Amino acid sequence: MRDIAKVQNTLSILDQFDLSAKKAFGQNFLVDLNIIQNIVSCAPIQENTCVIEIGPGIGALTEFIARKADKVIAYDIDARLKEVLAYSLSEYPNVDVCIQDFLTVDFKELEQELKDFDHICVISNLPYYITSELLTTIVLSPMKIDGFVGMMQKEVALKLTGKENSPLKLMMEASGDVKYEFTVSSQVFIPKPRVDSAVISLLFKENKEIDKHLFYALLQAGFKQKRKTLYNNLSDYLEDKERAKCVLEQAKIDSKKRAEQLNLCNWYNLYNQLL
Ligand code: SAM
Repeated sequence: MRDIAKVQNTLSILDQFDLSAKKAFGQNFLVDLNIIQNIVSCAPIQENTCVIEIGPGIGALTEFIARKADKVIAYDIDARLKEVLAYSLSEYPNVDVCIQDFLTVDFKELEQELKDFDHICVISNLPYYITSELLTTIVLSPMKIDGFVGMMQKEVALKLTGKENSPLKLMMEASGDVKYEFTVSSQVFIPKPRVDSAVISLLFKENKEIDKHLFYALLQAGFKQKRKTLYNNLSDYLEDKERAKCVLEQAKIDSKKRAEQLNLCNWYNLYNQLL
């Protein structure tokens, strides 16, 4: 089917397959072709690109990705969507649908499967209930990804692109260039969510300075108890107060500061002292 995201097409598919949106899977289907085009245009899709889509739903976004990218691998957790997507995306032989929880994907295996592609992007109208977990999985994945474009709750997008620091926000910053792209009204979904949404993008850059997992572990440890000073959280993490004091001094960080007061550069300095 063409233009799945037209309201009458979405309703017709839902009706034909007797499909109701499952709240437990965060299902809100996009019914605005312009928004879909704008989402796809934020992704750095170029020649020989494979796009991994998380949560294709009934295929509204997938069809536009399939027109632009060489290949789409779309993961959805809801087994009911298998036959729906086989019907709605039958015109797009470059789409593979996997009925699987994306959080259980083996990236090493996937990387091997995609080795003939020069570029990999991830696009998702994210299931809101696992936004942070999915983003963490993506930024920590061992796979070389060019870009990520994701729609999420507006408040979450604002936090990830705003001034207030968190381990995930800093990890995204360390991974590349993060940008708040645009706001999306709740009116363009069936069913309508209670809150507005927003799209953010992340253009990945190679970061040779850090081991992603070690760096993220340090960030999490620093933020573990938000009201404690960095010195206290670090002492717990290292199980050594003297060492915590010493590495903070060497990294030229005031031991009375809290984790949220440190910028990325401070974290790199601290990380380097712990190597
Ligand atoms: N992309 C479609 C659209 O824009 O209309 C649907 C988006 S809907 C907000 C989120 C989709 O993610 C649903 O189809 C849901 O079944 C799927 N989903 C939820 N949790 C998932 C998971 N852990 N792994 C893969 N897909 C998931």
